[in-house]
Amino acid sequence: MRGLYVHIPFCDAICHYCDFVKHVSKGHDHNMRYLEALKKEIQSYYKKYPQVDTIYIGGGTPSALNHDELTFLLEALSIYQPTEYTIEVNPESYDHKKGILMKAYGVNRVSLGVQTFNQKHLERLNRKHTNTMVFDTIASFKSLGITNLNVDLIYALEHQTVEELQHDIDTLISLDIPHVSAYSLIIEEKTFFSHQLKRNKFVKTDEDTEATMYDLVMDRFKDAGYDHYEISNFSRDGKTSLHNTLYWTLQEYIGVGLGAHGFIDNTRTYNHKAMSKYIVDPLKEVIEQDEATLRNDHLLFKLRMTQGIDLNMVKSKYNDDIFNLYPSLLRFIDDGLLVIEDNHLKLTRRGLQLGNLVFMVFI
Ligand code: SF4
Repeated sequence: MRGLYVHIPFCDAICHYCDFVKHVSKGHDHNMRYLEALKKEIQSYYKKYPQVDTIYIGGGTPSALNHDELTFLLEALSIYQPTEYTIEVNPESYDHKKGILMKAYGVNRVSLGVQTFNQKHLERLNRKHTNTMVFDTIASFKSLGITNLNVDLIYALEHQTVEELQHDIDTLISLDIPHVSAYSLIIEEKTFFSHQLKRNKFVKTDEDTEATMYDLVMDRFKDAGYDHYEISNFSRDGKTSLHNTLYWTLQEYIGVGLGAHGFIDNTRTYNHKAMSKYIVDPLKEVIEQDEATLRNDHLLFKLRMTQGIDLNMVKSKYNDDIFNLYPSLLRFIDDGLLVIEDNHLKLTRRGLQLGNLVFMVFI
């Protein structure tokens, strides 16, 4: 399996928590210069890798492209025939004509940036959509037969109550969406919120409340029939994300676009984040991965998945017992963060909450 990640860095407004590679678009000519460079990069990879199983157009905000720009992008990608073809959409920049275009070019999965259904919290995050826009966008895709939808949800928002989160989850479940990615709000360096935090103008959710909220997320989605298959991801009816599963199982993916990174032929590729450099020559760095790094990444990602690490797989692939390779894992079993079930090493419920402590073993 091989994936292709395509980065569209334009956004209509910048969210207060965002540390992705993005900027407000400077207009059509600027967008087209970028898309021309992106097309060249796509074609240069195509020569060596003419087949991919998944495409994921992320951002930024891919739906912020106008119809002509979107057509140019989808046309450039039409050299590939992936099994799963995902695009990220923000409701405020979507219209039904764009949906028709996506459908015509084979897009069969859409990831919607929703985050919360609470208008007060949306405004605090600097998100520009309303719930009506979300409902209309979902209805539009369903009418086009694109039903493989993901919704991104953020919890542990500033001053968010458990009841408000409960309402967000219930609303989401009522929309009959087969995939949910739910993340707690992380205050990343150099974001608007991080500057506010330093000036005591932002109130972080305390750890206990955050843990209560994660418990609620896990319980409610499980009760609603979702499979909790990765720390932050839930799916129904077998609609797991093939593309993200490539990342989590250390399979190959090509990364194209501003600041994109890839993993191909046991090397990690890193593109320039500065537009002026990217347009001239996208690739900034290629780092070959040694065996220990590959093994660490592989096992860390496997542990993020609730299925856990198959201990027989470790023995056959790495010719050793996982506890010889990483003796400190035993401590986490004693502490109740890890458990062995059906010959798989898995995070417990508490381990899911405190996964970062366990993952340090592999870093
Ligand atoms: S829309 Fe997405 S990429 Fe753009 S600023 Fe908001 S979170 Fe960042």
